[in-house]
Amino acid sequence: MKELICLGIETTAHTFGIGIVTEKGKVLANCKKAYTTEKGGIIPYHLFEHHTNVATEVLKDALKIAGVKIDEIGLISYSNAPGLGNALRVGAFVARYLAGKNKIPLVGVNHCIAHLEIGRLLTKAKDPVMLYASGANTQIIGYEAGKYRIFGETLDIGVGNFLDSFARHVGLGFPGGPKVEELAKKYVSNYNNENKSKNKNIKSSSQPPLIELPYSVKGMDVAFGGLLTNLKQKFDSGRFSKEELCYSVQETVFAMLVEVSERAMAHTGKNELLLGGGVACNKRLQEMCRRMCEERGAKFFVPENQFLIDNGAMIAWNGILAFKGNGHKGIKIENADIKPYERTDEVLVEWR
Ligand code: AMP
Ligand code: MG
Repeated sequence: MKELICLGIETTAHTFGIGIVTEKGKVLANCKKAYTTEKGGIIPYHLFEHHTNVATEVLKDALKIAGVKIDEIGLISYSNAPGLGNALRVGAFVARYLAGKNKIPLVGVNHCIAHLEIGRLLTKAKDPVMLYASGANTQIIGYEAGKYRIFGETLDIGVGNFLDSFARHVGLGFPGGPKVEELAKKYVSNYNNENKSKNKNIKSSSQPPLIELPYSVKGMDVAFGGLLTNLKQKFDSGRFSKEELCYSVQETVFAMLVEVSERAMAHTGKNELLLGGGVACNKRLQEMCRRMCEERGAKFFVPENQFLIDNGAMIAWNGILAFKGNGHKGIKIENADIKPYERTDEVLVEWR
């Protein structure tokens, strides 16, 4: 029998992505175009237009890079949840069209779970706790009794949106996360260079003192709203530089995320931590997670950046898992709906 090849479509937020993945987990293509703005956040109607405009081009690119024709695709999957209605609708429409026209089975996939499954595929993590740190989502997820359970999460905004809002306030533009990382790094290296020039005997690097910021962990959950207000006030007071705030904000919020991740690992007895989501590209967050895992004798996994940010490959791979897990049953075209508010723990995981 020919190997199943799935074409997965990702459109939960800013990214229109198409990935093509084989049943054995080989990624043949992972193409995307992302919506960006010069100033301000996502405008839903513009997002709808963006995804509609780039769909054909991304599809053509993905098929060309994968070296397959549409009639060699055995399954279409699309991210049906959670996300922005205007974005999700484009993916669902393209999926319906491709599946209907070419008579290909169709499945819907939950975006958060897809992040976890592509991480498991690529890093060989078996049963990890995942710290999913993205723009809109911040969740600590782990498998238990047929579902991916949320052991902790943000009570207000996602950590990425939080970093973006702070960055926008201090004039760094969107997306802000990478710029915050860059300035924080610069601040640490300037601090060390100054120390070294004052005292030639200092060889090793050290961490600069922190500006005290609200540290908001509530049980297993985290919150960023109060911290954002506090940071804006501090910046507006003129007493603190952008760089030192970027450094302190990273140290504070990543410590919050590491704390709840570690507690989830301790409670569940799982000894693997996997990172997912755009904020997981941050090297300082990776370093803090790695160190926590080393200290408790656990394994730490992080996929390469193209699979941390939103991508079509993860939707394709999760499509294959879901399709095989349910006995190769696709959904009817007319049932290919979207679920903007579906939670990770509402999905029955039939493939594990
Ligand atoms: P996602 O929603 O998973 O596609 O991730 C997008 C979010 O990741 C945005 O909020 C970005 O600011 C954030 N992000 C991307 N790269 C980094 C980074 N190096 N450090 C912190 N945040 C980042
Ligand atoms: Mg995501």
